[in-house]
Amino acid sequence: MKILVINAGSSSLKYQLINMEDEHVIAKGNCERIGAEGGRISHKTADGVEIKLDCEFPTHTEAFEKLVEVLTSGKGRVLDDLSEISAVGHRIVQGAELFSESVLVTEEVIEKISSISELAPLHNPAHVLALRACQKVFDPSVPQVVVFDTAFHQSIPDYAYTFGVPYEDYLEFHARRYGFHGTSHRYVSQRYAKLIGKNIKDLKIITCHLGNGSSITAINGGKSIDTSMGFTPLDGVIMGTRSGSIDASLVLYLMEKKGFTPKEMSDYLNKKSGYLGISGFTNDDRDIRKAAAEGNKRAQLAGDILRYGIKKYIGAYTAAMGGLDAVIFTGGIGENSAPVREGACDHMEYLGIKLDLQKNLDLNRKEGEISTPDSKVKVWIVPTNEELLIARDTKEIINKIK
Ligand code: AMP
Repeated sequence: MKILVINAGSSSLKYQLINMEDEHVIAKGNCERIGAEGGRISHKTADGVEIKLDCEFPTHTEAFEKLVEVLTSGKGRVLDDLSEISAVGHRIVQGAELFSESVLVTEEVIEKISSISELAPLHNPAHVLALRACQKVFDPSVPQVVVFDTAFHQSIPDYAYTFGVPYEDYLEFHARRYGFHGTSHRYVSQRYAKLIGKNIKDLKIITCHLGNGSSITAINGGKSIDTSMGFTPLDGVIMGTRSGSIDASLVLYLMEKKGFTPKEMSDYLNKKSGYLGISGFTNDDRDIRKAAAEGNKRAQLAGDILRYGIKKYIGAYTAAMGGLDAVIFTGGIGENSAPVREGACDHMEYLGIKLDLQKNLDLNRKEGEISTPDSKVKVWIVPTNEELLIARDTKEIINKIK
């Protein structure tokens, strides 16, 4: 069984074609600059064929048509016929309270995703465009499945997802914590349980997905019970260009001082803050580390803020779960940045966390344990694979309807 996984943004369409027999990626790629001039598709196969083609994508439909063309013809061809694709799985950012699990796409499902666009204005409308385009390009008999970033966090209890604002506004405007990166947190926690041969129901795990966007989740018995991202992916620890949690009064104060409109304030918090805002020159953890090593104080500060933020969440979530069995690092920074992992786990012996500093340095990007043998709490790096989980959910759902 071959499953096509789609991650659509407003101007891009990333894809992976996965063979579910052995879960290997047959081909992957990206259609960029949809709706703009200078579009391009980059396509890579498991055999090492790489192609880049300039093309115009006025809408997501042309992008889908092109990706189908490169999958089935030319140098990057990996399919004899499109009918070899059994199903399409789509990543959807916001499912709000309407979706607590992955579902088969129906007209009603698309309408529901569209109805919550206000909660994810940059993402959900693009997902709907991609779903419609996919319906046009694929035969209606090819099932489509949607997998939500928020669904895993629907198990968070009300006292953890409710903000301290008038309750009517939660009811009327759906103003609550949703959490994001759910597919990644679910994947790495399940993978960890499998690797150590334990039932996830018996484990208390903190997963740290640290990348350009970062979130930390407390997973008790396989269920998310709290997470650092909130109403939007702005909340939580400091990120590449996002501020993370700040006092809401500061938003009002700065809007007044700087004369910002809400849109300008949103750009300030989402695109000009975080690592970039603190360092003044980069959103990239590699540059931050290099500059800090060379004595750049603001780069050092940016790194310190992230490490301290992660440490606070580990402490808080250990308390929330009444114990801790494992901390898992994933995402571009979580998998690659030894100093971030070291700083986040530093002086945590009282909680049972003891990092093996050499293993922490040696194990970059590889799956494995980085705590000492006598560490009560295990610390692991588990590279994330959201596309694979989307493909697995898709397979499971279509197997049920067969
Ligand atoms: P992501 O959003 O998960 O792709 O992560 C992006 C972040 O991961 C950036 O801050 C990068 O600096 C960091 N990152 C990605 N790859 C590496 C690498 N090979 N070494 C160090 N940091 C990396």
